[in-house]
Amino acid sequence: MNKLDHIVGENKSVEKLHHFIGGAKSEGKTERFGPVYNPSTGEEIAVCPYATAADVNEAVEVADKAFHAWRKTPVAKRVEVLFKFRTLLIDATEELAITIGRENGKTISDAKGEISRAIEAVDFAINAPHLLKGEHSSDVGGNINSFSIKQPLGVVTCISPFNFPVMVPVAMTTMALVCGNSVVLKPSERVPNSALFISELWEKAGLPAGVWSVVNGDKEAVDALITHPKVMAVSFVGSTKVAEYIYEEASRHHKRVAAFGGGKNHMIIMPDADIDFAVNSFLGAAYGAASQRCMALSVAMPVGENTAEVFVEKLRKRVEELKVGSYDNEEADFGPVITQQSKDNVLKSIEDSLREGAKLCVDGRDPDAGKNNNGYYLGATLLDNVTPEMEIYREEVFGPARIVVRVNNLSEAIDLVNDHEFGNGVTIFTQSGPAAREFTEKVEVGMVGVNVPIPIPVGYHNFGGWKRSKFGESHMFGPDTVRFFTKIKTISERWPENTDNKKGAAFDFPSNRN
Ligand code: NAD
Repeated sequence: MNKLDHIVGENKSVEKLHHFIGGAKSEGKTERFGPVYNPSTGEEIAVCPYATAADVNEAVEVADKAFHAWRKTPVAKRVEVLFKFRTLLIDATEELAITIGRENGKTISDAKGEISRAIEAVDFAINAPHLLKGEHSSDVGGNINSFSIKQPLGVVTCISPFNFPVMVPVAMTTMALVCGNSVVLKPSERVPNSALFISELWEKAGLPAGVWSVVNGDKEAVDALITHPKVMAVSFVGSTKVAEYIYEEASRHHKRVAAFGGGKNHMIIMPDADIDFAVNSFLGAAYGAASQRCMALSVAMPVGENTAEVFVEKLRKRVEELKVGSYDNEEADFGPVITQQSKDNVLKSIEDSLREGAKLCVDGRDPDAGKNNNGYYLGATLLDNVTPEMEIYREEVFGPARIVVRVNNLSEAIDLVNDHEFGNGVTIFTQSGPAAREFTEKVEVGMVGVNVPIPIPVGYHNFGGWKRSKFGESHMFGPDTVRFFTKIKTISERWPENTDNKKGAAFDFPSNRN
């Protein structure tokens, strides 16, 4: 952590960032700042303010004030803002993809993919007039009509990770906004530029000032948000350890909470699978974005020795060909990992697994990074003969070291998947309907693929893992977000023309049968 004056004084090219509060840039009052790096070069590219509780309080108060007018804005008008935002997001794709790549490290084409998924979330939120419709019953008893309406919660906060600097913040917040809430986003301190870029788009789209704010920072800002009396709901995406903490702490402060954590996603390859198709599918889903996706395939699980021999040999050859490079290198299959610490963690996992008896099939520990040798590069690594007791199998590894765990049959594979602490995604590659059916029925995982390598649901379906990959009952994307960001009020209404009070008061429990 550094004082801003010190950093800016020494390096004028480092951009000083800000928060976005009340429709404008805000410096805040903090004395704490952190560097933002370009992982492809290791260069410091910006200095990010770390909000204090007072900065957070300012954003929440502004959001609370803006909420009262925004909730009364007809939903069709709120949707108009989303339409404009959608167009602006599409028009800004090239520039935004560079912003993402520069601070996150993912390739430009991968960044464009994430933006397109963000647009999908906006597309779904545009259905708000339909999704927000309530329910109505006439004459439920004695001239009484009963109806339920969905009302916004108030100020909600979304706390996002580094690995999807645009898709996750947009997916978390757009439905919240269109439902009539105001949002305070706390993006990852590693990728603040992308969130500030989105803020500009919302402003240009005509979102009223204060309805959307960004406070930059770390744990101090998060703690102030999740305990603030005026914050009604907390939507979190990040690592499991932090997700669990957020869930417990925010629940203790009576917030509605959905906290999405990490994953360890298996691919089961059955003996009847099309092996070339399985290898191709594994490659992109396992190593894309330098394996820094919560739905990245981590474990290849071939069933039977023959399947394993053929699959590993074909995979090994293809993994050896993968190219790591700078985010703007069009030849690169994937970019660097996010920080030097992240790189060190992945290296340690590989080395520990080798000590425990794993077999190194492809060694990517020391890739040729050319002129970018200060970037946080790791080449694609493949380890075979990993066993379920090894740390590298039990932990989420957020970098391009992927493993093969050999099993004898489908039920052994299902048992291992079910015994794992994570339950985000899983997939089976097979040509057998009965095997696929048994698998999809028995696995204890939230998102399941059959011959689909990354089973991320489309924007109008619910997204979310099971077990320690998600804390709280709600999903991200899909119809569940409407439930999460609204509360239901049920109204029983009678407009009698003549009241007959001769009977006096009724003390029996009201029923429409009497
Ligand atoms: P992270 O948990 O380190 O950070 C996420 C957010 O929490 C950031 O905004 C960060 O500032 C904040 N934070 C970090 N430590 C905190 C603490 N001690 N107290 C309070 N707040 C804290 O996660 P990350 O490294 O940015 O992202 C990668 C992780 O996110 C991976 O585990 C990945 O699987 C997971 N992820 C999950 C999903 C999903 O949908 N399940 C999606 C994307 C990423």
